[in-house]
Amino acid sequence: MNSIIPLSAFTDNYIWVIVYGNSAIVVDPGDAAPVKKFLSENNLNLIAILITHHHFDHTGGLLQLVEENKCSVFGPKGDHIDGITDALSEGDKFSVLNLNFSVLETPGHTLDHIVFYSENTDQKILFSGDTLFSGGCGRLFEGSPLQMNESLQKISSLPDTTIIYCAHEYTQSNLSFALATNPSNRKLISHSKTVNDLRSRNEITLPTTLIIEKEINPFLRLHDKEIVKNAELFHDLKLNSKQEAFAAIRSWKDSF
Ligand code: ZN
Ligand code: FE
Repeated sequence: MNSIIPLSAFTDNYIWVIVYGNSAIVVDPGDAAPVKKFLSENNLNLIAILITHHHFDHTGGLLQLVEENKCSVFGPKGDHIDGITDALSEGDKFSVLNLNFSVLETPGHTLDHIVFYSENTDQKILFSGDTLFSGGCGRLFEGSPLQMNESLQKISSLPDTTIIYCAHEYTQSNLSFALATNPSNRKLISHSKTVNDLRSRNEITLPTTLIIEKEINPFLRLHDKEIVKNAELFHDLKLNSKQEAFAAIRSWKDSF
C-alpha cells in the first residue's frame, strides 16, 4: 500500500511524495529543500521524479535531487528540461516502485504538459500538475482554449473514482469563481463550505476526485445551461458551442 503525502512549497505549491516501503517518488519538486528534509526524516530513498511541465515551480529542485540521489526522472519529451532521463509522450507506459503509470499529453497551460495516471493499486490516481485544479484549470500560458478543453476532456474520460493530486492549493479561489458561474449548484455550495472550513484551519483541500470535479468544476460542466448563460451575460455574447463556452469561461476567470 502506498501513501501519498503533500509537501508544501513556495506559497501554494504541493510536491506530492509517493511512499512505498523505504522508497519514494516525488512529483514536480519545484524546491529541493522540503523533499530532502522529508526523505531524511523518514529514511527514504528517492527512486524517481515525475515532472508534469517545464515551469520552475515544478522543476526548480530537480537537478539538486538528481545529483544527490541518482534517480530516474520521467518528464515531457523535447529536451528543454535539464535532468530528464525518460522523455515521455502520449500513451507511454512505465513502472516505478509498485506502480504502473500511463502518460496523457494535456497541452493548454503549457504545450509540454503531461499528466500521470496509475490504476494498478487498489486506487486509481492521477497527478494533474497545472492542467486540472480542484474547481478550476490552469491558465493558458502557451496553449489555446481548444487544446485545454480537449486535455480536460481526456482527463474526464478516466474512471470517475480517480483520485486527483493537483499541484496548487487554488481550490478556494477557484470555487468563488465557480459559484459566480453556477450559483444554483447545490453540490458546489456545500463543497465550498467544506473547503472554506478546511482553509480557515489552514488545511489542504486535496486530493480531489473526478466525480467531485464533474459536479463542481465549471470547466468540466460546459453542458450546464446556467454556466453558459452566465458566461454569455458576462461577455455580452452568444456562445454557440462547448468550445466557445470553454474559451468564454476561461477568459472570464482570467479577469475574475
Ligand atoms: Zn505551471
Ligand atoms: Fe505551477
